[in-house]
Formats: sequence, C-alpha cells, structure tokens
Amino acid sequence: MEFVILAVAIAVIALAAISGLVVSSRKKKQLPPTPPSSPSVTAPPAEPHVGEEAEPTTREQPRRTIEEVDLPVAEAPAAPAEPEAPEAPAIEVPEPTAGRLVRLRARLARSQNSLGKGLLTLLSREHLDEDTWEEIEDTLLTADVGVAPTQELVERLRERVKVLGTRSPEELRGLLREELLNLIGTDADRSVHTESGVGVNGEEKPGVVMVVGVNGTGKTTTTGKLARVLVADGKSVVLGAADTFRAAAADQLQTWGERVGARTVRGPEGGDPASIAFDAVKEGIAESADVVLIDTAGRLHTKTGLMDELGKVKRVVEKHGTVDEVLLVLDATTGQNGLVQARVFAEVVDITGIVLTKLDGTAKGGIVVAVQRDLGVPVKLVGLGEGADDLAPFEPEAFVDALIGNGG
Ligand code: GDP
Repeated sequence: MEFVILAVAIAVIALAAISGLVVSSRKKKQLPPTPPSSPSVTAPPAEPHVGEEAEPTTREQPRRTIEEVDLPVAEAPAAPAEPEAPEAPAIEVPEPTAGRLVRLRARLARSQNSLGKGLLTLLSREHLDEDTWEEIEDTLLTADVGVAPTQELVERLRERVKVLGTRSPEELRGLLREELLNLIGTDADRSVHTESGVGVNGEEKPGVVMVVGVNGTGKTTTTGKLARVLVADGKSVVLGAADTFRAAAADQLQTWGERVGARTVRGPEGGDPASIAFDAVKEGIAESADVVLIDTAGRLHTKTGLMDELGKVKRVVEKHGTVDEVLLVLDATTGQNGLVQARVFAEVVDITGIVLTKLDGTAKGGIVVAVQRDLGVPVKLVGLGEGADDLAPFEPEAFVDALIGNGG
C-alpha cells in the first residue's frame, strides 16, 4: 500500500515537472526574435549566470509538499511581472529627432502657462509698481527659476522696461524672449556625445553613455527613448541593463531595445552592475555597435553606497576606454528636491549633460535655469510625455518660444 502511494506521488511529481518544463519552454518560444546580425553572447532574461548563487526558492524546493507541486500550471503565471512590457514587439522606425521640440511645444506651452504668459501679463500692466515687480519675482520663483537667476532677470527687466518707455505687447514679448534666452544660454554644446573612439587595445570603441539618476525620475524610460533617438539618427545601439536593483528595470529596458532592434546585455537581479556595464561595452565592441547606453541604479538611501557603485561602474567601463557622456536624469516636477539630488550625483560622477523629464506635467520649467546654474552643465534633452518618441533635444529658442507663446 505504502509502495502504491509512493509510486503515485512520484508519478505526480514527474508529471508536474514535465508540465512545468513545457510551460517554461513555451514561455521561451514566446520571447521576441533576437535582433539580426549580432553574436548571441548576451544573457537571456532572468537566467542566472555561472557562479551566481541559486535563488532561495530553488533551494527550498525539496521541502515542498505533494499538494504544492500538484499545481504546476497554476504556479507558472508567477513569472516576473512585466508591467511596461508590451507583447511581441516588432521592430519600429522611430520618428526623426529634428523638430521634435517644436512638435511637442503644445505640451510645453500648456504646462508652462503660468510662467511665460503670467510674466507677459504682469509686464503689460499700465503701472509697473513695486507690487507688480514682486509678483513677477514670485512667478519666477514659483516656476523654480531659482533665487539668484530670478533677481538677475528682474533687474534686467526693470532696466530695459524703463528704457523702453511705452510697451507694446510685441516689444515686451521680444524683450522677455531675449532675457530668458540670456538666462538659459544659447552657446552651450547640447549635443549628446556618442562618437565612437579608440579602445584601450587600439580597437574601435562605440560611444559610451551612462544614464544616472534617482529611481522614479524616468531613467530607464529615458535610456529607451534615447536608444530610439540614436536609431532614428542611423546608429546601432547596445543597451546595458545595469540597474539590477529595481526588479523590472532590465525587462523594461530590453523591451525598449527590442522595439528598435537594439540588443540588451543584462544579468541576474541584484547582480553586479559594474560587470554588466563592462559586458555591455564588450558586446558593443564585438558587434561594432555605434553606441552603448548604460542604465544604472539610482538609490539614494546612502550616499556612500551610491558613490561606490556608480564610481565603480564608471571605472570598470573605462577599462575598455572613455565614457563619452554621463547624463543625469532629473524629474522636473520635483523642484528643489531634484536639485539636491542632482548635487549628490554631481559629486559622485562627472555629469556631462542633464535630461529633464516630465516637463509636460509641470509648470516648473524654470528648473532648466536653476539646474544648469547649479551644476554648470547644460540641459541636453527634455522628456515631454510617456510616448516612445516624446524625448526631444533641448533647443533654448524653441523652449522659450513655447514658454511665451511665440510662433504658434
Ligand atoms: P526609473 O525608475 O528612473 O527608471 O523610472 P522609469 O523609467 O520607470 O519611469 C518612471 C515613470 O515616469 C514611468 O511611468 C514613465 O512612463 C514616466 N515618465 C518618464 N519620462 C516621462 C516624461 O517625460 N513625461 C511623463 N509624463 N512621464 C514620464
């Protein structure tokens, strides 16, 4: 009798294992096709690397009861949730980057209403008394322009309005445009440096871009959107999923990559970000890719931990050659808090450019001025929505025009 029960139990376990295998092999077949023309040396999703410790759940398996293993199909859906991963991505052609900011200006204009239009309304008042100047100052401060730039701007406006005498709306608009442009600066190099160079062994090395920032700012989304920008500009891209801290980040990035045919190099969750970043550049060199984009983790709970990790990622990548660009992603809606974060990152790695995300959802576009002043680094890209092509090169003129409602 005991023997029969044992035999049944073994049969059930064997069945469960077989159907489990079927489920997992079916799942693998559903994975989107590998992008063409690349060696398949990158790690497939969520499979542990050699030398990695087994997951705790694997170790606990021998202790499972028959009732538990009797439900393999019900367990199968417990695969990692992929909230932002659409199914079966086909390779897309991203929209050209030229003129994106102009296309997206309506979103900017909508969200910036209280700044540009508010200033124009105030400046158009018949009597520009002290109260009005104070209101102008408040408007700028509320839009996160920052104290010093606000005072400078108000001083310049006061002088120029005095000289102007009569103030037609067009004159005021022109004057404000000029002064805002002065504040933002039109001379900075705002291009994202992605030119390939020479690696440490004399081989051709892709341009290497690290994307850093606090989790939640839109870092992974921005890395994905930037891949599209580069592909739209005719470049081939390899992605490095070095944000191993946030569970879904690597899946999210891989999905972005697959949509435009860019390979993603990834490792196990909680794995070593520096080694993934290293492998990504290695893969980029092997594939003769034009650019390698590395998404990093941005937890701020201990500054030292962050410093160690980001610093290490950069140093390890530099074993292949230079890192050409370190982009800091900042959420424009976080205001002063965002600035504090930005300073911490600037201490850790040399930031070479800023990406301001979620400018579509805030009236606080003045952060462009404040953050540039604070870090001495130009804003290079702006995020204006959740759409795949809602990342635009930052152009001061188009930005200011949207702010004050010029040209449409
Ligand atoms: P990460 O943790 O920094 O990698 O953040 P994610 O890339 O996952 O983005 C967090 C959320 O911000 C997501 O829901 C994104 O769709 C959203 N997001 C990113 N950029 C923008 C943007 O420019 N505008 C808007 N409205 N949402 C954005």
